[in-house]
Amino acid sequence: MTETEAELKKVRGIPVSPGIIIGKAHLVDRSKVQIRYQYLLNGRQLEEEVARFKEALRMTEDQLVHVKDRLPDQVKEYSYILDSHLMILRDSMLTDSTIKKVLDEHINAEWALRRSLADIRGIFNQIEDEYISSRVTDVENVTEMILRNLSGEQREKIFELRERVIIVAHDLTPADTAELNIGKVMGFITDAGGKTSHTGIMAQALEIPAVVGLESATSMVKDGDLLIVDGNTGDVILNPDDSAIIQYQEKQLQHEEFKSSVARTAHLPAVTLDGHRITVRANMEFLEEVAAVRDYGAEGVGLYRTEYLYLTSKGLPREEELVEEYREVVELIAPNPVVIRTVDLGSDKLAPGLDGAKEMNPAMGLRAIRFCLREPEIFRIQLRAILRTSAYGKVQLMFPMISGLQEILDAKAILCQAKAELDREKIDYDRSLKTGIMIEIPSAVMMSEVLAHHVDFFSIGTNDLIQYALAIDRVNEHVAFMYQPFHPAILRMIHHVVRAAKSAGIGVSLCGEMAGDPLCVTILLGLGIEELSMNPRSIPFIKKIIRSITMEEARVDFDDVIHLSTAKEVRAYIVDRMRSLVPELEEKGYLRM
Ligand code: PEP
Ligand code: MG
Repeated sequence: MTETEAELKKVRGIPVSPGIIIGKAHLVDRSKVQIRYQYLLNGRQLEEEVARFKEALRMTEDQLVHVKDRLPDQVKEYSYILDSHLMILRDSMLTDSTIKKVLDEHINAEWALRRSLADIRGIFNQIEDEYISSRVTDVENVTEMILRNLSGEQREKIFELRERVIIVAHDLTPADTAELNIGKVMGFITDAGGKTSHTGIMAQALEIPAVVGLESATSMVKDGDLLIVDGNTGDVILNPDDSAIIQYQEKQLQHEEFKSSVARTAHLPAVTLDGHRITVRANMEFLEEVAAVRDYGAEGVGLYRTEYLYLTSKGLPREEELVEEYREVVELIAPNPVVIRTVDLGSDKLAPGLDGAKEMNPAMGLRAIRFCLREPEIFRIQLRAILRTSAYGKVQLMFPMISGLQEILDAKAILCQAKAELDREKIDYDRSLKTGIMIEIPSAVMMSEVLAHHVDFFSIGTNDLIQYALAIDRVNEHVAFMYQPFHPAILRMIHHVVRAAKSAGIGVSLCGEMAGDPLCVTILLGLGIEELSMNPRSIPFIKKIIRSITMEEARVDFDDVIHLSTAKEVRAYIVDRMRSLVPELEEKGYLRM
């Protein structure tokens, strides 16, 4: 660190939307609503209190509908976020339970609402899927809106700004973000927020840089302070000196050039400099993501997660409902393929209405294919829906969490039954539908030579594979430091699976987060992976990296790396190689050790 840098007030948060901005801070009052009063009510006040709460719900609903109706074009595809907030607002878990608490315990609505939120937080904390458990932020956002309406506090309107500023707030809800006047707001930083917050998704769609989770931004920054916000790295510099400004202006320029070159080339194929074509597909979960899948140059969907309808439907979704949803995705992605994964439900990810015993180790519990084989009726209906969808486009079917051959045989038996039913009912489906499995359990890795003869393709799920191979709970922050894609054991496992697939002549892809990590690209290519599936926004950059390297170099790197013994050594090797192969990675902060 140079002396000048040492004097700078620099803090690091979580980057959620890329880009660099230099501008004046504008503090907005988005602090948490303080509940000043927790009070008991007497019997005569109860009705009035419930009416006050209902009025706050009505106001919140009006506000959400107002924002949704006026969404700027760039974020229209994210209207589902506001729909989900409206759903939360109407959900009995939040509202009815609050009213019940008011009536049963004679407490004021604010107090009861906070208690309902705490109950919901408790439930979300037990959900092992990181994405779904982090959705509790949405419930918190809605609760804040209701509390504000209960308190009668007026919110400063962020969109009535006179000059271009950087917003500094305790937190911004997705609705706040959607309302930002991007003509006036250069970007924002917040105390609260996490990596997968919907606020970040909105900021990305609006293409304004944002850093969240700074913890003390609102107490450190004063209105009018000069700020530099680096949405690539999460760095925020308060009152920078001239040299920092010059340095970041340069970075800003580079970033803009980089962005336009990446965007221009999103739809180009991913071909290495020595002519090897890599297929790059997208992971998706919600229908609304289809636009991003197409815009970011995905060549189809490599992983369509299907838990959502089971988690949100009242009871189980009907076959027709499933077909309707899947069909829309498949038709919009055609002529490219969609790999539909059967539900990874179970244990704490139970659909409402299904009973399940509490499990000590849900990640190792009755989930995914185990759950489906235990509940063949639920499974059969989903299989029928997927088969029926295959008549409308290019569909492939995939089973998650396979641990050995027996599960494949059992799952295929139910698939055969579903096909026979459709034959009898004269309902059309793709008779050559490809069926594959996720390889995400170490036993499946070890058995991959055998499994390869029973399926049409493998898709390596490194999120779970790393969890099970290194024995680290993927949602436990205390062992997050051990989530190591570069662990030699993981690389060897991937290598083993690729060899098994190739010698059996079946396809093999990789769809864990690792696929979209710019640092992992060469090593995955070197390992022999020719198909990657990732979050849509990562696609243009990953494709660009593929176009900047040769397969020959990737193989040489792999030969070197496979002899290294620790994740640290592998990472150091890769960082060094990538620094020379793709210089942009350095400036985007990916090469920090
Ligand atoms: C994985 O485990 O790598 C994967 C892609 O599946 P999920 O993240 O849905 O468990
Ligand atoms: Mg998985």
